[in-house]
Amino acid sequence: MSHMLRLIVAGLRFLGSGPALVGQQARVPPPSPRLYVFDCGTLDVADMGRFRLKREEVSTDKLSVGCYLVAHPRGTLIWDTGAVPDSLVKPGGAPVRYRIALPDAQERFVTLAKTLKAQLAEAGYQAADITHVALSHYHYDHSANTNDFASATWLVRQVERDAMFAAKPPDLTQPSSYSALRGSKTTIIKTDEHDVFGDGTVVIKFTPGHTPGHQVLSLKLAKTGRVVLAGDLYHYPEERTLGRIPTFDDNQEQTAKTRIALDAFLKTNNAQLWIQHDFAANAKLKKAPQYYD
Ligand SMILES: [Zn+2]
Repeated sequence: MSHMLRLIVAGLRFLGSGPALVGQQARVPPPSPRLYVFDCGTLDVADMGRFRLKREEVSTDKLSVGCYLVAHPRGTLIWDTGAVPDSLVKPGGAPVRYRIALPDAQERFVTLAKTLKAQLAEAGYQAADITHVALSHYHYDHSANTNDFASATWLVRQVERDAMFAAKPPDLTQPSSYSALRGSKTTIIKTDEHDVFGDGTVVIKFTPGHTPGHQVLSLKLAKTGRVVLAGDLYHYPEERTLGRIPTFDDNQEQTAKTRIALDAFLKTNNAQLWIQHDFAANAKLKKAPQYYD
């Protein structure tokens, strides 16, 4: 970029009047909401018992890890930020298997090819451009790169935020990955549904059970129709067909009630449910820089 262009870019940023600028290109807000799906890796699962499933009951024991960006005419929302911090990801593009050591001495293995940052850039965005950040819930495999989005407005329930910053954080969290949110501009969601951009197309819905403040993302897309990103309300599609609830859900009775309520919501709204960890379903999705609109 020339010195003059740099000055112009800086000036536009300062004025806040132009479209968001990425690298040398202007990122014009899309005319209608777009959903970008990023490949944030594949999680090995050794112990199916935690999901109350047997290996022979599932088509694969692998779980996908999804990260998502919603680009809306009025802003951008990152939904879940992966299982492996970008800082650990080796450049080169070939998949690498990473060991994630959790604070409670548990370990997990995630295979990943590309950083979230690189995938965002391919879609035309930088972390600093993102206006809103929301996590389906606080577990490590949904929050690894959250600190990169600390300049965005955080959308969260009080009960979830309290747990994340408690003196003893819950199991399966990696508090260092989201510590920067402590100082972020924050919207505490108090309603069942929170309409992020005010036009009903991007709605965060309360679905407690897996964690106390677990939430799903309900989208109304012009061509694709209604899609709900399920967070971890389910992991394996067989949890849904066989009616199994993971042993590590914070409140399993609550999960059961939430699943019934969400089924009614899906029916009323004629919405598809996208289970974020469903390996086979996720493999079929278009990945960024392609998008759903
Ligand atoms: Zn998960």
